[in-house]
Amino acid sequence: MEKSIFTRIMEKEIPARVEYEDEQVIVIHDIAPKAPVHLLIIPRKPIATLMDVQEEDLPLIGHIHVVAQKLANKLGLKGFRLINNCGKEGGQEVFHIHYHFLAGFQEEK
Ligand code: IMP
Repeated sequence: MEKSIFTRIMEKEIPARVEYEDEQVIVIHDIAPKAPVHLLIIPRKPIATLMDVQEEDLPLIGHIHVVAQKLANKLGLKGFRLINNCGKEGGQEVFHIHYHFLAGFQEEK
């Protein structure tokens, strides 16, 4: 499989603004933000889509949720959206699984 743009970012071939990283994931700022805070939580393991997640990957998927909590705490956010676009028909453009972490929307009255 050809290296995804996200693998190339992890290997520092392409620059990115890194917000967080650990042994399982890297979190970068989206290059075209759709919200005041728009991060991408990307597993180091290059799984193509959510449909390719296997039983053995479930701890990793759980870890992504813990990382989302850490980001919210770090950035002082009360709420956020965590979105995965799955497949071409789901709006996925980069075929290396990632979760959009979106926040900073105006508070509802
Ligand atoms: P998808 O549509 O869910 O696959 O989202 C891919 C996201 O990756 C889009 O929001 C893009 O703006 C973002 N993106 C693509 N290339 C880069 C990059 O080099 N750095 C940061 N974000 C990127």
